[in-house]
Amino acid sequence: MRAFTCKLSLILKGSMPEEIAGRRYRGRLAPTPTGCMHLGHARTFLTAQSRAEAAQGILILRVEDLDRDRCKPEFIASLAEDLNWAGLRWSEGPDVSGSFGPYSQSERLPQYIEALQVLRRRNLIFPCDCSRKDVQLAAVAPHEEGGEPLYPGTCRSKADSFSGEEDILGVNWRFRVPDGTPIAFHDKNLGPRTFVAGKEFGDFLVWRKDGIPSYELAVVVDDAAMAITEVVRGEDLLMSTARQILLYQALDFDIPDFYHCPLVRDSSGRRLAKRDKDLSLREMRQRGVDPAILRSEKFMDLIA
Ligand SMILES: [Zn+2]
Repeated sequence: MRAFTCKLSLILKGSMPEEIAGRRYRGRLAPTPTGCMHLGHARTFLTAQSRAEAAQGILILRVEDLDRDRCKPEFIASLAEDLNWAGLRWSEGPDVSGSFGPYSQSERLPQYIEALQVLRRRNLIFPCDCSRKDVQLAAVAPHEEGGEPLYPGTCRSKADSFSGEEDILGVNWRFRVPDGTPIAFHDKNLGPRTFVAGKEFGDFLVWRKDGIPSYELAVVVDDAAMAITEVVRGEDLLMSTARQILLYQALDFDIPDFYHCPLVRDSSGRRLAKRDKDLSLREMRQRGVDPAILRSEKFMDLIA
C-alpha cells in the first residue's frame, strides 16, 4: 500500500527521479555492532538517509554481525537506540521485519554458502592455506604507497578436491582475480574510478576458515538479495567496490550504484576510530549533545 501511495504521488508531481525510473530506490544502513559507532558513521548514514528520501525510496537496516568475537549482544541491543538518537529511521530491519529478511548477517549463512558453491562450480575460487603471516611475508609490494600488499598467488593453482560441505566451510577460499583487467565504475559522488585487478588488489578472500564469509562476499550476496539499488558508504571502501563488482559479475547479480562519502577526520587529518571515544554516538548521547548538530554543517565543531 505504501509503495503504491509513493508511486502515485510521484506521478502526480509529474517528475520521477532518475534513480527510480526503472526500479524503486532501495538503500541500506549496514552497521557493524562492535560498540564503536561514531560521528563518522553517523554522517555517512545520514547521507544514505537523505539520498533515500530524495528518491522517495526505502531505507533498510542490515546488521553486519558476522564477527562473533567483536559483535557482543549488548552492542547489538544499543545499536538501534544510538542510530535513532542520531535521527536515523528505517522501514525494514531486524527490529521491524520486512520481506527481504533476515536482516542480521549472522542469520544469513545459508545464502552465503550457496554463493560460495556457485563460485566453486564456476571454478572462480581456490582453497588457500596460507596464514596471514605467510601472505604478508611473501606478498608482492604494494603498487602505490599506502596500497595493500598483494596476495602472492601461492595456492592459485591448487586443486579443489573437497567433497563434503563441512570440509569446504573450514577452509580459506580466495577469488582468482583477472590479472591486468581494469575494473571501472562511476561513483555517484566521486566520479569515475578504476582499479586494476592483480595490480592494485590481488586474489581476495571470499570465505574464512572459521566458517564465515568475508566482508566482500557477504555484502554482495546481501545487497543483491535485498534488491539494493544504491550503496552509500565511506570512501575507505572504494577499492572494495572493485572487488565486489567482480563478485556481482561472477554471480550474475545486477550491480547497484555506488556513492562513497568522504571520511570524517580530526584536526590532524586522522580518520576517527575507536580511540576517539568522546565522539562515539553513545558517549555524545550520554553527554547530552544535541543530535541536530550531526545533521548540520557544524558537526565539525564536535571535533575539538
Ligand atoms: Zn595461499
